[in-house]
Amino acid sequence: MNSRKTFIQAPKRIGIVGGGASAALFVIECRRRLDPSIELVVFDPTSETGRGRAYAGPDRGDLLNVPAALMSARSDDPQDFVEWLKTQGRSESSFEHWPYVNRAVYGDYIVDRVNSVPFVHIAARVIAVQKENDRFALTLDSQAMERVDALIVATGYRSPDLSRDFAALVPVRDRVMISLDDLSNCQKSDEILIVGTGLTAIDVWRRVRNAGDIQVDFISRRGLFPIAHEDAPVPIQIPKLDTLTPVQILRLVRNLKRETQAGWPSLAIAIRAQVRAIWRAWEPRERRRFFRHLRPYWEVIRHRMPQGIRAELDHDLKSGRVRVMAGRVKFAQRVNGRIQLELGLKNSSEVVAYTCDRIALAVGAPIDEDLDLGGLGNERGLWFIGPPARSTLWEITALPDIREQVRQVVSELANG
Ligand SMILES: Cc1cc2nc3c(=O)[nH]c(=O)nc-3n(C[C@H](O)[C@H](O)[C@H](O)COP(=O)(O)OP(=O)(O)OC[C@H]3O[C@@H](n4cnc5c(N)ncnc54)[C@H](O)[C@@H]3O)c2cc1C
Repeated sequence: MNSRKTFIQAPKRIGIVGGGASAALFVIECRRRLDPSIELVVFDPTSETGRGRAYAGPDRGDLLNVPAALMSARSDDPQDFVEWLKTQGRSESSFEHWPYVNRAVYGDYIVDRVNSVPFVHIAARVIAVQKENDRFALTLDSQAMERVDALIVATGYRSPDLSRDFAALVPVRDRVMISLDDLSNCQKSDEILIVGTGLTAIDVWRRVRNAGDIQVDFISRRGLFPIAHEDAPVPIQIPKLDTLTPVQILRLVRNLKRETQAGWPSLAIAIRAQVRAIWRAWEPRERRRFFRHLRPYWEVIRHRMPQGIRAELDHDLKSGRVRVMAGRVKFAQRVNGRIQLELGLKNSSEVVAYTCDRIALAVGAPIDEDLDLGGLGNERGLWFIGPPARSTLWEITALPDIREQVRQVVSELANG
């Protein structure tokens, strides 16, 4: 979706749809590098820019899954977040899980940094965008219209939609939890099935674990959890991968693992540096093949969790306090106040009966589709940043990737 977008006239007013961390990073970068007379306007129904879905309070002890030293909001100062923590009187030793900091604290940091530069926040949802000559006309949910010369779409991920994404769960929808806040409705005696085994699922499990002795099971297509970060990843030299197919890359990486004896985190870091080039080079057929066969394996080495949390999880798996299944929910119904499910397990033609009290959906879904872009895509003056840019960049979820993308977009804006 993002190509080079030169302007006939430099933009005087830039609109940013979505006010999460991606928007905040964009505003901070613009203020550092663009003409200060350019007006920056963020549209988001919430009252402040910066937290978005990931870093909103209250602080419930959820941790960042990326070390603090990589989470700076400034592309020119990698230590900015760590330095900010010091100015708040929070020393490293005051964090039990250092270098992984509480997510809500990170939200405070982003909000503090973005509020230290001038921009306008309009508390409204953008429902439609139209092109008007060289400008963009935005319709807000208040029916007001706003016009901007350049437009940034930073709408993040949407929540999963039950009827579209998990039709089997529709009959028990009142027992399905979609947001972490829904967990407050759980009873201590509840047995919970978490659908998903990625980092969001780990967040859910930690919340439930902290709340008491609730029995938790996980189910996902492969039943694989993210691996733990390494203390000191080793730098690995790898050849250029963008001329290879997914299967050839898999073979090469397996050989490298054998030859170097490196851990998966070190290999993932080395491969990640090339992910965008690989993604651009692959034909749709190769992308589909990657999605179908390799993506789950890539995701578990790519999105890692702090070692301490992985150790807690392994402990609970060993003791039987949590269980994990590979498969999917095929059928669900309410029976005597509980949920009765039929599960299709991987590598088995049998359908297994399973009973629980609540289901937590812990899976992300890309881009807020409530926003009608009226067919706009590759327009001059229009950029997608963060998760909505996934189709072109693929690896654009974690903050360090978004920061790099924002730096590139602002360079394009700066160069006209
Ligand atoms: C729970 C969670 C934990 C995470 N933890 C980490 C981590 O530890 N480290 C890391 O690097 N990354 C983490 N991530 C990845 C995260 O995606 C990025 O770090 C970043 O927060 C993405 O921000 P965003 O602004 O693109 O999206 P979001 O945070 O989703 O924000 C999008 C905003 O757009 C607004 N919006 C949507 N549609 C409209 C519309 N039509 N009009 C107006 N506003 C609209 C929404 O209200 C929302 O505020 C996490 C993600 C999640 C969900």
